[in-house]
Amino acid sequence: CGIVGHIGPKDSVDIVLEGLRRLEYRGYDSAGVSFIDESNNLQIFKKSGKLDNLKSTLEGKDYTARMCIGHTRWATHGEVNDTNSHPHMKDHISIVHNGIIENAASLRKELAAGGYEFQSDTDSEVFLSLLTRELASGKSFKQAMLDSFSLVEGNSAFVVLNQDVLEIMAIKKGAPLVCGINEIDSEAFVSSDPYALAGMASQLYFPADNVLCHLSAKNKNLINFYDDKGEPTDKYMSKKQ
Ligand code: GLU
Repeated sequence: CGIVGHIGPKDSVDIVLEGLRRLEYRGYDSAGVSFIDESNNLQIFKKSGKLDNLKSTLEGKDYTARMCIGHTRWATHGEVNDTNSHPHMKDHISIVHNGIIENAASLRKELAAGGYEFQSDTDSEVFLSLLTRELASGKSFKQAMLDSFSLVEGNSAFVVLNQDVLEIMAIKKGAPLVCGINEIDSEAFVSSDPYALAGMASQLYFPADNVLCHLSAKNKNLINFYDDKGEPTDKYMSKKQ
């Protein structure tokens, strides 16, 4: 339902929680965040119910992070509970998903037959499973994203945090997605709704369907866009704010 992601030299978890708070008006049944902590561990906190439930689980924890993705869920596949809440995590990868994977049932069968053990009942975890399969076969993060995304049907947006390369990638088809940067503070953002980034990103980018958005604090550009062949593309609308 709602997605917010952030990379940069600020408290990413606080920024993501503030973004999610702004998206509460859309309605949701669960909320979660995933981030790389100061010891470079990939952490996940998620809870059914209100954002305040999630905030209570973070209370007293040192969650200083320079990279975070977060989600408010409106369940379509799988009941409302902590396990089915996003993000979903496996092998140094965590993902959040908006929308529906129409061919989830058949992909799930195939992936389970290949040995993948599903933790949740969501359609979203199918994308995580595809992604970890592609990465395990030796593909780059970029190629694994493109190849996994080409296999899912339906209208969706995915945002993925990769602990191994310390990057965030996002891609969508038929679902809203916006990226943003704040060049002065070297920050990059991604969200399902520009309202979440108001006053934080000075420049917004609205990618076309199937454009891979690559957020990295290591790149001078902060965000790069690639087409379905992995080549740089300008298929996005940009807007100052
Ligand atoms: N289909 C996914 C689920 O049920 C995502 C729902 C959403 O867009 O929040 O978990």
